[in-house]
Amino acid sequence: MATARRRKIVAGNWKMNKTVPEALALVRDLRAQVASLGDTVEVVVAPPFVALQPLHVALEGAPLALAGQNCHWESSGAFTGEISAPMLAELGCAYVIVGHSERRQLFGDTDAQVNKRAKAVRAAGMTPIICVGETLAEREADQTLAVVERQVRGALEGFEAKDVASFVLAYEPVWAIGTGRNATAAQAQEVHAAIRGLVERLYDGETAGRVRIQYGGSVKADNAAELLGQPDVDGALVGGASLKAGDFAAIVKAAT
Ligand code: PEP
Repeated sequence: MATARRRKIVAGNWKMNKTVPEALALVRDLRAQVASLGDTVEVVVAPPFVALQPLHVALEGAPLALAGQNCHWESSGAFTGEISAPMLAELGCAYVIVGHSERRQLFGDTDAQVNKRAKAVRAAGMTPIICVGETLAEREADQTLAVVERQVRGALEGFEAKDVASFVLAYEPVWAIGTGRNATAAQAQEVHAAIRGLVERLYDGETAGRVRIQYGGSVKADNAAELLGQPDVDGALVGGASLKAGDFAAIVKAAT
């Protein structure tokens, strides 16, 4: 596998939290706290859809990228309540999270739908952050690598190496999300290395060396440095701890 220097990427998934005024206050604070870090680490925030436009305006020129939390695979049409990838691109999103476990578990997202969403994101000129991860029952049944492999294969179906090299994959064990129980650094590294190995088998060493793989699941200021210090952990996808500027900034600092 080609050795590549991958720029770390730390993304905050705010889920269904923060009103527009609260969102503006949070990024103002965050911007000030990460200003001194330069471009050593890429920082992304994924607010609720309604906050994207105001944040796009407020963040002009700031080293903070915007992400959508999901999108539909069609560009427009009779899909009440849905948001399309071109709409997110127009609001300044550089990334869109697809396949988050809450989408899979609560809204029935399948691997095939995650693939269609990722294709729409790519077609709209953005980068998907593709989430995968096993449940506790799957881990206890020793199915972790098989589940994650199935999810990664499904999400990447039909993509070429040049696409995948620029993608972000996020390994998020479901049992670690919002539970305060993070994977150990060794558990995370094992799965990340397996995912990178799979990308090498599906594509080539160059692509595997370039694709970035985030860890997500109860990342906090006090465990971030160890998780992010693993050779195949290229960043973090952060839920709860991204809702306070100081907590999120501490994780970003741990990535530098
Ligand atoms: C997430 O929802 O992607 C996540 C990782 O949440 P938390 O950090 O709260 O576990």
